[in-house]
Amino acid sequence: MRKPCKVLFFFFVTFILCTLFHCGPKAKPYDLVIINGLIIDGTGNPWFKGDVAIKGEKIVKIGSVDVNKAKKTVDAQNLIVSPGFIDIHTHCDRGIVKTPTVDNYIYQGVTTVIGGNCGGHPFPLREHFKKIEENGTSINFACLVGHNTIRREVMGYKMDPPTEEELRKMKALIEEEMKAGAIGFSTGLSYLPGIYSKTKELVELASVVVPYQGIYATHLRDQAFHITEAIEEAIEIGEKNRIPVQISHIKLSQDAVWNQLERITKPVEEARSRGVEVTLDQYPYTATSSGFTSSLPSWAFEGGREKFLERLKDKDNYEKIKAFIIKRRLTSTKGINKLETIYIARFQKFPEYEGKNLHEILLLRGNDPTIDNAVDFIIEIEKNEGASGVFFQMDEKDVEDLMQLPYNMHGSDGGVQVLDKGVPHPRNYGTFPRVIGYYVREKRILTLEEAIKKMTSLPAQTIRLKGRGVAKEGMYADLTIFDPQTFEDKATFSNPHQYSVGLKYVVVNGELVVENGKHTGGLSGKILYGYGKK
Ligand SMILES: [Zn+2]
Repeated sequence: MRKPCKVLFFFFVTFILCTLFHCGPKAKPYDLVIINGLIIDGTGNPWFKGDVAIKGEKIVKIGSVDVNKAKKTVDAQNLIVSPGFIDIHTHCDRGIVKTPTVDNYIYQGVTTVIGGNCGGHPFPLREHFKKIEENGTSINFACLVGHNTIRREVMGYKMDPPTEEELRKMKALIEEEMKAGAIGFSTGLSYLPGIYSKTKELVELASVVVPYQGIYATHLRDQAFHITEAIEEAIEIGEKNRIPVQISHIKLSQDAVWNQLERITKPVEEARSRGVEVTLDQYPYTATSSGFTSSLPSWAFEGGREKFLERLKDKDNYEKIKAFIIKRRLTSTKGINKLETIYIARFQKFPEYEGKNLHEILLLRGNDPTIDNAVDFIIEIEKNEGASGVFFQMDEKDVEDLMQLPYNMHGSDGGVQVLDKGVPHPRNYGTFPRVIGYYVREKRILTLEEAIKKMTSLPAQTIRLKGRGVAKEGMYADLTIFDPQTFEDKATFSNPHQYSVGLKYVVVNGELVVENGKHTGGLSGKILYGYGKK
């Protein structure tokens, strides 16, 4: 062989070998490598030191990784590397379309949110999923089918049980939503119109999700005096259909039942002992948040809002509604001034009241801060298209005791927020960092590994989510990397629009969505479809 030929031959062989064995500058086998991290894998095991190598959307290696093989390297020295947090209870449904970067969740280290909770979901789901996919999103999203949405669609605000035909229609709609990719069925039994339904209807409707491995998630009919019966109803619905039961935002929400945890643990543990899979979720605060509508009796709204306005004109009705609100919202057995515990979060017609409590608002209006005046004001809120409120009605000890139940996990019950709009519950910004900063680091209610398990593998197991919730080879690369000494919430009740601190990196499906503490704008989130997806 002549010399030039030899040289050419050498280059040719080198090129073939490089292509085959991935050497050379372009052929790095890992897209992203996170080195020196303290890895908490999400199973509850204690942390271990290691590197995580990612290729495409997946974790391909955990252990010791050669950084020369990485296109990009993140040094996680002294940082926790955890599976991305999964928020099993959110109302992010529509907000994801308006704010695809979902900043208030990404900045908590949340990489997956479950929507469609408390009986409400964006209908029809197929169109909604399409919109999210066209738009892009920073976060993974899965969704339940909401009973209130379906019942309203078929029956409006009728109080009666459904006819055969109505039941058939509701079942068909639920089936269609499961085929669009929903992961289960949710109820909101203290909201309209689900509050009108009986257990029999719910058992029948929940049966539709059985062939699709769907779960039953419920906002209970009662979270105070009748919480045990409400839990028993949820268990009956799951048990008769042999599906898992997820009880949403668990709490003892009236001072008369504070510190009576057995009202919850007894029915749940009895059911679990006979093989019914019941789990709970909880947000780490002593205040709830919802629309004021649920402070009023459900019969007042039968037939819709116009009927409600008509009913108010009748003096007898008005007095009955008043008595109901006093019992439901303004009575304390512990001498608490309830007017100081109820805040307006969002009130479109009167934004000047946002962030103020009923006591302050009555004084502003030149009224005496009496219970009587407070009830009149709550009714006036409803006349003015409603408002959402923040209600301090839980006990800190109950929050802590519930948090330690092994079948309870963390969930925010929040939605996508727009910075500085209204005075929403801080859980929207702070749930996950608060658990770690306050309940793990400061109060030592849980270990960091236990808390992370309740944010990752436990919710993944509950909703039958494959490939996520644990950091190991072969899983999707959803990761949250934070400083265990500083990660905490900053959102407060008076100043909720504040992101957490101490969060360093967030990876969603292999891509960095937070880098050096800043949202990259990356839209690598996906719809996580249920098993019925066609
Ligand atoms: Zn709810």
